[in-house]
Amino acid sequence: MIPFSSALTNTPHWQQQLADAFRSPRQLLRHLGLETHWHPGLERVAQDFPLRVTRHFADLMEPGNPNDPLLLQVLPSLHEGEPAPGFGSDPTGDRLARTGPGLLRKYHGRALIIATGSCAIHCRYCFRRHFPYREERADRRHWPALFEILAGDPTLTEVILSGGDPLMLGNQQLEELVERIGRLSRVRRLRIHSRLPVVLPGRLDDGLIQLLARSRLACTLVLHVNHPAELSTPLAQALRPLRQEGIQVLNQSVLLRGINDDLETQVSLCEKLFDFGILPYYLHQMDKVDGAAHFEVPAHRAKELHQAMRNLLPGYLLPRLVVEEVGAPSKLPLE
Ligand code: SF4
Repeated sequence: MIPFSSALTNTPHWQQQLADAFRSPRQLLRHLGLETHWHPGLERVAQDFPLRVTRHFADLMEPGNPNDPLLLQVLPSLHEGEPAPGFGSDPTGDRLARTGPGLLRKYHGRALIIATGSCAIHCRYCFRRHFPYREERADRRHWPALFEILAGDPTLTEVILSGGDPLMLGNQQLEELVERIGRLSRVRRLRIHSRLPVVLPGRLDDGLIQLLARSRLACTLVLHVNHPAELSTPLAQALRPLRQEGIQVLNQSVLLRGINDDLETQVSLCEKLFDFGILPYYLHQMDKVDGAAHFEVPAHRAKELHQAMRNLLPGYLLPRLVVEEVGAPSKLPLE
């Protein structure tokens, strides 16, 4: 991950809040009244993949609870250094799918742009936690080459902005990017994959909503929420104007041991997402990335859980349980 830094004069409020994020396990644990759970080994683990948590996300955690499901997603663990057969640094085959600078092509008709390497929060199970963002992101200097490749593809109908978190870009840069994508005559849809509104609802500011509304492309925002406690009142308020502009909001979550691998949490998540105007889209079987094996839920357990969810939820609230297989032409249902 690329560290976020910016000169903080005349910066939007959300960027100032980003600069105020927690950056060390000790700092976060102290904030939650959990100092006795601090260990120097946590700082060592965080050297490889630093801790980053916004104040908003930390305020959704339960003080004094070392097993809080939001805390467990972001706090480095000594388990991260344990060897885990079958796990690797590129579990989804991003290197194989690279077709240009910061450009990945996996599925028919779609192209994914690594718009930035930064995130507002660092999720310990992130499948791109070892991604070489410094070399492999679509910086502005790469745009001419990148758009030449995209313009030459007659099958392309959808562009996905990913990262890192594409909403880490400021509105001006984002607008330029969206405008250039809009100039690709065959592209009809724009998808933005982001966790930023969940951890910093203020990111959904007027400028962002307006720039998406101005685009000729049909826009979908795919959020990443794993637990109902992540769905806050400020997020509900921030989403309202977005939906009024006709922008679809979907959710993808990752099945994580000890965090959301029980029926009550999953059903509650799906129902609360709907209350927020968000449709559950994918429930991912976790990608086998080095350092995250302690989060893995066995496939048979994932299938049982999904079947139990199917029995309780209406079809439109049931996310698809999928797994990503390197080289496959689509995400694969785990059935
Ligand atoms: S926000 Fe997304 S890309 Fe960033 S660390 Fe979390 S899972 Fe990975």
